[in-house]
Amino acid sequence: MATRTGKRGSGKASINRRAAAPARRALTRGNPLLGKWSTPFALPPFESIEPSHFAPAFAAALKEHNAEIAKVAAQSARPTFANTIAPLERSGRALNRVSAVFFNLAGAHTSEALQAVEREIAPKLAAHETAVMLNPKIFARVEDLYKRRDRLRLTDEQRRLLELHHTWLVRAGAKLGRKAKARVAEINERLATLATQFGQNVLKDEQSWRLALDGERDLAGLPPSVRAAAARAAADMGVKGKHVVTLSRSSVEPFLQFSSRRDLREQAFTAWTKRGEMGGATDNRAITAEIVALRAELAKLLGYDSYADYSLDDAMAKTPGAVRHLLTSVWPAAVRRAAQEREALQERVHVEGGNFEIAAWDWRYYSEKERKALYDLDEASTRPYFTLETVIAAAFDTATRLFGLRFKELGDVPRYHPDVRVWEVTAERGTHVGLFLGDYFARPSKRSGAWMSAFRSQAKVSGNVHPIIVNVMNFARGEEGEETLLSLDEARTLFHEFGHGLHGLLSNVTYPSISGTSVPRDFVELPSQLYEHWLMVPEVLQRFAIHYRTGKPMPAKLAQRIKKARNFNQGFSTVEYVASALVDMELHALPEVKELDVNAFERATLKRLGMPREIVMRHRIPHFLHIMGGYAAGYYSYMWSEVMDADAFAAFEEAGDAFDPATAKRLKTYIYSGGNARDPLEAYVAFRGRAPEIAGMLKKRGLEG
Ligand SMILES: [Zn+2]
Repeated sequence: MATRTGKRGSGKASINRRAAAPARRALTRGNPLLGKWSTPFALPPFESIEPSHFAPAFAAALKEHNAEIAKVAAQSARPTFANTIAPLERSGRALNRVSAVFFNLAGAHTSEALQAVEREIAPKLAAHETAVMLNPKIFARVEDLYKRRDRLRLTDEQRRLLELHHTWLVRAGAKLGRKAKARVAEINERLATLATQFGQNVLKDEQSWRLALDGERDLAGLPPSVRAAAARAAADMGVKGKHVVTLSRSSVEPFLQFSSRRDLREQAFTAWTKRGEMGGATDNRAITAEIVALRAELAKLLGYDSYADYSLDDAMAKTPGAVRHLLTSVWPAAVRRAAQEREALQERVHVEGGNFEIAAWDWRYYSEKERKALYDLDEASTRPYFTLETVIAAAFDTATRLFGLRFKELGDVPRYHPDVRVWEVTAERGTHVGLFLGDYFARPSKRSGAWMSAFRSQAKVSGNVHPIIVNVMNFARGEEGEETLLSLDEARTLFHEFGHGLHGLLSNVTYPSISGTSVPRDFVELPSQLYEHWLMVPEVLQRFAIHYRTGKPMPAKLAQRIKKARNFNQGFSTVEYVASALVDMELHALPEVKELDVNAFERATLKRLGMPREIVMRHRIPHFLHIMGGYAAGYYSYMWSEVMDADAFAAFEEAGDAFDPATAKRLKTYIYSGGNARDPLEAYVAFRGRAPEIAGMLKKRGLEG
């Protein structure tokens, strides 16, 4: 549930000054990635883009960007905001455009050909970015401006932007000597290669493993919706009339919840938790060890004790100590709660005549039964009220009521896959805001998880640029001609990613590198997690939780039971999350890394924490995609943001109205529209009138006291 935007470069130049090879140069002519896009809303012309277009397009865009940076650097005029920061902000438009198309496709609809391009381009882009960030002439100009910032008569946004540029350059190594800079460049390039390989390996493991369910015996316990999804997965793989479970979360998790075949649950769960360490070419353990070692070295070069110290210095949390304080203050209560939950599940096993200790692959199955027994609530009873269509409509309607946005689905516009849907987003009086793309169904060409990203970010520095935002999910599609029914969790995920989407759509800043979701990681989950709250607001449920067959609204009693069950299994959820966040933190807090044994490290850390035997980290290290991408030493961000989201939603509760106009207005101004134009804590205080308090989060998880 991450965001994938926020390339916060000041701009990037290149050390690669070789001309493009002749064969490639020919491809720049008529290359759809490079020309003007005369499509509706200047959407990328997806239909005419071929994988072979990317390498020459990147080469041309890099060259263009180099020229722009060289021009800024070569000036003899004394630095001003207008001749230094503004042109840096305007630079790299072609590169951003090509990168956005490429990386969105690489995540949401990849292929062997695109993966080959990705392996080649990732280190080149890293080298380019490093070269720009370490360009001594650029740094000299920014530093000069920075020192005179009090006398420059800048707007608040400009001043913050100048300070950020200075910080980004220093953090990239601009103050280092020549030798150290060269090593930083080497490390960044290698890290880009390794992270690409890591992600591709996880996807391969997910694609290649499958559990074929042969007949009624193997399907035992599975409700119709799970059977339908498994049939669909089999059909996608070309085995019609069969059922298949894959390692995508939307496939394997429901299977683990419902399959009464303990042996099959064990098989599926074991494979799922072993992604990235199945041995052979896709094994990520050595890659991880190298990544962690290189990050530790990088941090040292930059003057930090560890990569965690380096990474957090630029976040709201500031120090590993602050993160540990938050996570460990939740941990004991979560473990206690999980132990109580385990007792109850074990009891259920015994009552059913089972004679075994609860294992990790049993937890979801028995907790589903427990939920049913305690609250008369199971997935099968809620799914019919959450069709994909109604949940989308509810998310849109909430944005209409809070922020005055309207959504109109567009028919004939370019899209990168037939499943992608496109909406035009408008504000009051029909003003164009941007486009919203929804890509909801799982397919083998998509990496797992759910995320928001941008094909174009909002900015005003060179004309009014309207955002194109995408949400990507991995829902299992309903049977042919049937509605797609979502679990409560999936409905929440849709609201979550749509919250990120609004953060991109409502962005109202001048400069692209502080636009939308380009904010510190531990702030970026606030708009998304906060938005989840509106799914369960009674008036939203009343209007949108309509049974897909009977057309009747969800009975008040069922809504009541959902509310009561809210804290059910929170011990488990908190433990699997916090364990991942702490392992991430400790992994990156290592001051020095030599021949790291990833498995041994994970085991030892969990042992020290007192990890319950029956719970496995939500993401084990060899497939922990978050921390190999932008969330290194940052998985805690979800909980950090959760402190704020619980506290922020309380502002509406205190106002006595989940759609209170005055509160919504402040929320829009300071949070959803603000980008990174203000310090995040200042922005929060401007919205809430005070700093966030932790009590709301503990209450939300039922862990208070
Ligand atoms: Zn998120």
